[in-house]
Amino acid sequence: MGLWLLTAVLWAPLLLLLPVRWLVVPAVWLLGLVNVVHVGFFGYLADQFFLATALRTTPSETWEFVHTLPTLTVVMALLWLLGSGWLGWTLLRWPAQSLRRSPLLRVACIASALVWGGFALYGAKKGYDGWGYLNKLDRVYPLHIVKAYLLHRQINAALFYSPQLPVPLSQPAPVQTLVVVIGESASAQRWSLLGYGGGDTNAPLRDIPGIEAIRVMAQGSNTAAALPFMLTGLSANDSVQQQAPSFLDVAHQAGFKTFVLTNSRFFDSQEDFFVQTLRRSADVYTKVGDGGDDDALTEPLRRALQDPATHKLVVLHTFGSHPDVKHRYPADYAALEDAYDNSLHYSSALLAKWTQLLDQSSRPGSPSLLVYSSDHGLVLPPCSEGYRTGLSRSTLEVPLLVWRNPALVATAEAAGMPRFSAQERETPLHGNSMVAQLVRWGVGDGAVPLQHAPQALQFQGRDWQAIATADRCSLE
Ligand SMILES: [Zn+2]
Repeated sequence: MGLWLLTAVLWAPLLLLLPVRWLVVPAVWLLGLVNVVHVGFFGYLADQFFLATALRTTPSETWEFVHTLPTLTVVMALLWLLGSGWLGWTLLRWPAQSLRRSPLLRVACIASALVWGGFALYGAKKGYDGWGYLNKLDRVYPLHIVKAYLLHRQINAALFYSPQLPVPLSQPAPVQTLVVVIGESASAQRWSLLGYGGGDTNAPLRDIPGIEAIRVMAQGSNTAAALPFMLTGLSANDSVQQQAPSFLDVAHQAGFKTFVLTNSRFFDSQEDFFVQTLRRSADVYTKVGDGGDDDALTEPLRRALQDPATHKLVVLHTFGSHPDVKHRYPADYAALEDAYDNSLHYSSALLAKWTQLLDQSSRPGSPSLLVYSSDHGLVLPPCSEGYRTGLSRSTLEVPLLVWRNPALVATAEAAGMPRFSAQERETPLHGNSMVAQLVRWGVGDGAVPLQHAPQALQFQGRDWQAIATADRCSLE
């Protein structure tokens, strides 16, 4: 309430300036709509990841997103549009003369000048740098969006960094052919290999020798926040600040021929963190589809695996179970009762198919590894009406699957590949940045620590233990 009143007082003088009023009122009205929807989904105001997502989202994806909006959020958004629309319209038509004569507004103007002046003096005295200052100011609504914009710009300004590579790599590559499958919106809570009993979502994977699956923790609740961790092991901001290499950069440096095949749906007219990170060290970068069935990746994968290079890394960026989930599988995969389960079953069938392709293409005695994980999961019923992006425990618990061919099974232990514990099938001990760590191990970057203590696993500064025992929907 205090911050709300402060905000009202601080911005009140803007109402006196007629032309500014016509900019401020509609802007606050629209930004409010964005925030109401964002809070409905994630529980907090729009941030830099919202901006990154908005800029790469295609109209068809926006249309599917609209269909996953919870009823309550739609009602709140309509109430906001009508209520604040009426209020804004009233303010806009108020004659400037009578506003100037209002004693309440006069007091607000004086208070506002005093508070802004105080802020400025405090900042000057403490010698605040821009960021420290902004971190305080973003409590004054809607300055959080300015901070989000600056953070977003910081990523984009440093986008074309040269990654700091580990030189030289510490050992010869223990793996010759690596396939990394980047999943989308798959929650470990619906993986039958990890104990889900509602439908055999992983049936195609069950009897494949050399497969292991565990639960890992996603490190964000949407692609923009979570995917960077799988690529570099760090957030997008930390990646650009530390010039962190992605696993592709390291593999490329280790002499691997690198392929990136993507079926993700995005505007590729502008470079963003993901396009840049996936493309800068790729010998072959192909957008094979735009969010249609992920089977579109199969033939390009087959061709990549036939490439004569002795060491290869192929990255498949799938569209997985991205909402709206009922569009994420072909009609002949509608056997299970639940649409989300069907999409996971379809992804499992493709993983089985791709594992088989990798197995068949591996020369005798040549070690091959397939690694799969999802960027984040989804909010599932009963925490939501349907399946949607947002923050809940099922969003943070994602599957990680590895498949090793017989040649790698024979040599992996001696080469220091980590073994997963039985406990990890029940509860995550690692983040899904494990994907980057596994690939870096596979290409010979043994310097990367592969295991970290379970107590180090945190999400946004909170221990996983606290999250695991909190309410599964609100995480409170
Ligand atoms: Zn995602």
